[in-house]
Amino acid sequence: MVTITLHCPHCESDALIRNGHAPNGKQLYRCHACGRQSRENPTPHAYPESRREEILHAYQERSSLRGLTRTFGVSRTTVSSWIKKK
Ligand SMILES: [Zn+2]
Repeated sequence: MVTITLHCPHCESDALIRNGHAPNGKQLYRCHACGRQSRENPTPHAYPESRREEILHAYQERSSLRGLTRTFGVSRTTVSSWIKKK
């Protein structure tokens, strides 16, 4: 059992409450702090595999998530989830 702490992509609050499911089956959350809705793992497939490989390769060379997010414009959360899956 893995517990994932979700954070609101809008305000970084972790006060997310479940709010039904999206049409694609993803869990939806509503943020208690700012009232906006977010999705579980909002961008796992937002980048093609090649892009992901490129970014992960850059991560292995530099080991700097901060630099990666600046260079590639991906969210740190997204890259972290890729790294964990490796
Ligand atoms: Zn929020």
